[in-house]
Amino acid sequence: RSKDAGGGHFHSYEPQLHVEAEERRVLEIALRSAIENDQLHLLYQPVVQAGTGALMGFEALLRWTHPELGPISPVKFVPLAEDARLIAPIGEWVLRSACREAAKWDDPIRVAVNVSPEQLHNANFAAFVAQALRESGLHPSRLELEVTESVFMREGTAAVQTLEAILDMGVRLSLDDFGTGYSSLGYLSRTRFSSIKIDRSFVQGASQGQKEAIAIIRAVVALADSLGMATTAEGVETEDEHRMIQALGCSKVQGYYFGRPLPVIEARGLATRDSDSGIAQVA
Ligand code: C2E
Ligand code: MG
Ligand code: MG
Ligand code: MG
Repeated sequence: RSKDAGGGHFHSYEPQLHVEAEERRVLEIALRSAIENDQLHLLYQPVVQAGTGALMGFEALLRWTHPELGPISPVKFVPLAEDARLIAPIGEWVLRSACREAAKWDDPIRVAVNVSPEQLHNANFAAFVAQALRESGLHPSRLELEVTESVFMREGTAAVQTLEAILDMGVRLSLDDFGTGYSSLGYLSRTRFSSIKIDRSFVQGASQGQKEAIAIIRAVVALADSLGMATTAEGVETEDEHRMIQALGCSKVQGYYFGRPLPVIEARGLATRDSDSGIAQVA
């Protein structure tokens, strides 16, 4: 992308690159003060048992609303935060908020929190998780951390040691977006995941009748079963998709069909109904 490498094509794409770099710079500066300025909040998406639809927990999903730019998707700002070394403070805010909120729920269902690889490579992360649990009073078994396969791609064992320390506290781990990264099955047997989350792309493919997607879901379910792990299908949007996912043997489901990511008050309402309303108790 340097001038020398660009040659004659340089002028044709330079303005676009410039706009992107400028946009990133603006967003990065804004993101630096997003926490202090109260621009971040969490939504909570229901995770239910396949078949019964019983509420098993919620996944906390981060939202950023900038006063002038409006809502910015985490798909855009999380990678930016990772690059700008802002993911640690943001991730700590997420974890602390989610634990504090889940501790208020009457039903002892779980809260799942997404964790970036960058956070796991920090030696203090396990201590921070312990602190968030202590300070909120949330039982460790009610917290689930979602990590992606990319965690295992980096050199060294720092992240694996951090995961071990967290598992020893009784916190659960799930493997997010399974099948979309560069999977190596070795770490699946070495790390004690409670659950594998099957990416929405496979759910979509399977519902469109793609034989490959169906075969992959079947194989992942069989693998998870034999390793004593649950499977969660992501992005189930229709009754047909739910039926198919259930037939393929997935244990849990998440998706718009059962509930969109909800504001904190609505999630709290669902988590504090009487136990005879059919909401599962998992702790
Ligand atoms: P993810 O962890 O795989 O989260 C699932 C995403 O799928 C969420 O997108 C959710 O809103 C969306 N989703 C759920 N059900 C459906 C459905 O039925 N149809 C469709 N089309 N989408 C569905 P969201 O909230 O935009 O988050 C995107 C990604 O951003 C997350 O993917 C996660 O990787 C990242 N992210 C979100 N919050 C955090 C956070 O607090 N920390 C970190 N490190 N990453 C986060
Ligand atoms: Mg997730
Ligand atoms: Mg996911
Ligand atoms: Mg996904």
